[in-house]
Order: sequence, then structure tokens, then C-alpha cells
Amino acid sequence: MYDIRGLNEECGVFGIWDHPNAAELTYMALHSLQHRGQEGAGIVCSNGENIFGARGMGLLPEAISQVQLDSLKSYRHAIGHVRYATTGASELSNVQPFIFKHSKGDLGLAHNGNLTNAQQIKLALESNGAIFQTSSDSEVLGHLLLKAKSENKLANLHASLNQIKGAFAFLVLHPESLSAARDAHGVRPLMLGQVDGAYCVASETCAFTAIGAEYIRDIEPGEVLTFSNETPIHEDFYTKQTSSNMCSMEYVYFARPDSEFRKSSIYEVRKSLGEQLAKEMAHIEADIVIGVPDSSLQAAKGFSNYSGLPNEQGLIKNRYVGRTFITPNQTLRERAVRMKHSPIREVIEGKRVIVIDDSIVRGTTSKFIVKTLKQAGAKEVHMGISSPPLKHPCYYGIDVSTHAELIAAHQTVEEIQKELEVDSLTYLSVEGMHDVFKKHHSKGECYACFTGNYPIEIIDQLLPEEKEKKRKGV
Ligand code: AMP
Ligand code: SF4
Repeated sequence: MYDIRGLNEECGVFGIWDHPNAAELTYMALHSLQHRGQEGAGIVCSNGENIFGARGMGLLPEAISQVQLDSLKSYRHAIGHVRYATTGASELSNVQPFIFKHSKGDLGLAHNGNLTNAQQIKLALESNGAIFQTSSDSEVLGHLLLKAKSENKLANLHASLNQIKGAFAFLVLHPESLSAARDAHGVRPLMLGQVDGAYCVASETCAFTAIGAEYIRDIEPGEVLTFSNETPIHEDFYTKQTSSNMCSMEYVYFARPDSEFRKSSIYEVRKSLGEQLAKEMAHIEADIVIGVPDSSLQAAKGFSNYSGLPNEQGLIKNRYVGRTFITPNQTLRERAVRMKHSPIREVIEGKRVIVIDDSIVRGTTSKFIVKTLKQAGAKEVHMGISSPPLKHPCYYGIDVSTHAELIAAHQTVEEIQKELEVDSLTYLSVEGMHDVFKKHHSKGECYACFTGNYPIEIIDQLLPEEKEKKRKGV
């Protein structure tokens, strides 16, 4: 069954126009976006007339060899992509950027996000003779662009973007121009920067830091920026029907803490989430607060700042164990979690410990953490989660697991607390999270995985379990 959560989850994109070291800078930028995708990577360049590229499976150094990178050195325009996919085929054909060879001119395409009507458009295009090369929803935009009738490429892009629904940050490289488009609801992040006079775009500002670029601003919902040699930057909107629904999980977990959204530091936002959680957990008495490394260390610091409890390093992370979340079965996942986190007995023994994590998905990590802290001699373990319960799947490009696997979709907080064998469990409230984002210049977020209120219509087929839920009216 087609899973509309798609194949381009949590990816990272980067693009640069008119720089003598375009490919090398793209490579460096992708390196700093590696946390957004470890399954495959690619770079596609333009020499003003044609499009060339290299892509491969795995981490960036495995995916693109030095020889391949050297072969792209002389080109001044480039886009790049790192891919993370948990559903569908894990194969080279799905690794981006895609290259479309066409009599109208070559085209390179990179996408972060997930389209919610890709299947519908794909079926319509296929019935008109289109042949799709991949199982990725991103390919849909390429076909729409090539099918468009106008000689004006920008008009074609606007018309095509108006046909797709969902969450996206798209980079479209023509031989003579580069366009960067953000979906009308601004779910996925996309930033504008500049280095040595050349414009660049990236999923996160940490990519700008990596290449010494200045972070200019966020690309707005519905905005399309186009760079070409005639007009260094052309700013426009493909639609006026926009809203601001930035993914709140980007703030909570995905983005790197040294990145900024809306000129607000992710590090500071996570600290504020921890402060807010401390307000909501004021009734819990404890001796120390620790964070689950790495993504929850800032929230633990914020918690400590507000509560006055000492912030200790109670858990050590083995950096060389991959992401446990993507380990294929539960037994392996449990083993991987065990390898990943080790307690420091001297810090924990005899203490009432508050442990902060950013989220609970299936509960595997939390269950192990509670157990390991108790084995290390903790007198009490209280768990604080710096986001609300994850109850609903994401259809906009983040893998927060299927409904069936989400522990909070089926159990109350009290039941989860029992299952985790923890002395208390507190999740951040949705209102508390909202207040934190407001303090940090946010204009509005998506909270759908917490509330079930999806800001963008989901047109493609629902997963079987979602269908069942709808049928039962749950
Ligand atoms: P679990 O063990 O399934 O409950 O996963 C929870 C852990 O995975 C937490 O420590 C989170 O930091 C992390 N996490 C949360 N959401 C995701 C996601 N979508 N992808 C990968 N890891 C995640
Ligand atoms: Fe982000 Fe959740 Fe919205 Fe998905 S549903 S875009 S993970 S906030």
C-alpha cells in the first residue's frame, strides 16, 4: 500500500548561484546538514548550458567520492541534497537531486518535505503517458515543469507549484537559473544567505556557518526566489494564500542547535522549552536534572536555570551508534539504545533525578533510560518531555512513526508512566510550547502530530490504520 508519508523525510537541501567553488561549498554545506539525512547524498551542477551531477548511497563521504567532486569543480552553480528515508525503497534511484534530461533543457531538482497530493497528480500524469523513474513524490514537480507549455520558466514553476499540495522546500536548477521555493504554509524551513557576493539557500543556517556565508533571512511561505546572471535575485510569491505553520518538531528535535529560524537560535528555543517544562513540573522535588544527549541537553539547561536544580551530565552518548529510531526491528532497536546511552554512576547514585528528553515515540529509549538510571542507583527518576505527547503521524515530511507504533496514541500519560516504570512523567503542554515559540519571533507553527489538526489537506490515500480510525470516528 502506498504510504503517503512519502520518501523524502527530514532531508536537507542547499543551493548556490554563481560562485567559483560552487560544488565544494555545496559539499561542505551538505556535511553540516548530514543530521537531516544519512541515507544518500548528491550534488548537481550547471555550467550555464547543461546539468551534471554525482550522487550515491550512505553518508556524504561514501556517497560522493573526491574524484566525483573534482569532476564538478569548474561549475559555478550547484544544488545538493542529503536524504533520510524510512519508508519505501532505499535505493539509488530515489537519491536526489534528480536530473531530468529534456529537449526543452535539463533540469535538476532537490526536495525536502512531503507532498500530500503527489499520488493523485502522478496517476493523472501517468494516464497521459508520463513515465516515473522513482518512487519519490518529488519527481512529480519535475514532470509538471516539463509538461508546462509556457516559454517562461518562472511562470511554469509558479503554475506547477500551484498544483502541488503539502510541505516542501524545493530547489530547481535550470542551466541558466536556480529557483528556491517554500510551501505556502512554511512547514519546512528554507533560508537565504550570501557568500563572497553569491546567493545561497539552505534548509538550516548551520550550512551557512560551515561555508562562511551570511544568513540574510528566512524564505517566506509561498515565496519563490530565483537567481540568474541577468537578475542576481528575483523575489516573488507563487501564491498569496499563505499561512505560517513551521514544523514545531524542527525546533524540538531535528534542527541543529547552532541553527536559527526567524533569526531565533534553536539552542535558545530549546532552553526556553526546558524552562517552560520546569514551570509545569514545579511540583516535583528532585536533587539534579540531566538531559538525554544530545538533543535534550539544552532543554535540561533551561530546566535547571528556571528551577535552580544543578544540571549534571548523567548520561553519556556513544556517538558512533546510528539513529536507534531507524533500526528495523524492536529487538535490534532495544540493543542499539543500550549501546547508545551509558549512565555516570557517581552523578546518579542516591539522587532523585529529573531526566529530560525531547520526545517519546515508541517509548523504547525512555524505558531503557529509566531502567539504566535506576540500575545506576537513582533513588527516584522523574521524566520530563520538552514537547507534548506525539499522538498523530506526520504527513509533511517528518518520520514520527505510524499511528500504531506511537505509544501516546494508544495510552494515557498515566499508562505510559506505568509502562516506563518511572516515578513520574510530565509532557510539556501544547499551550506552553506555543508560548515559547511566540517569545522567539515565531509567526505560527504546525502542531499536528500533537493535536491532530493538520494545517494542509491530505488528499492522497490514507494509511490503512488511519482509514480505520476515520471509519470508527476516532
Ligand atoms: P523512541 O525510543 O521510539 O521512543 O524514540 C524516542 C527518541 O527518538 C527520543 O530520544 C528522540 O530524541 C528521538 N526522536 C524523536 N523523534 C524522532 C524522529 N522522528 N526520528 C528520529 N528520532 C526521533
Ligand atoms: Fe512537524 Fe509534527 Fe507538523 Fe509533522 S505534524 S510538520 S512533525 S509539527
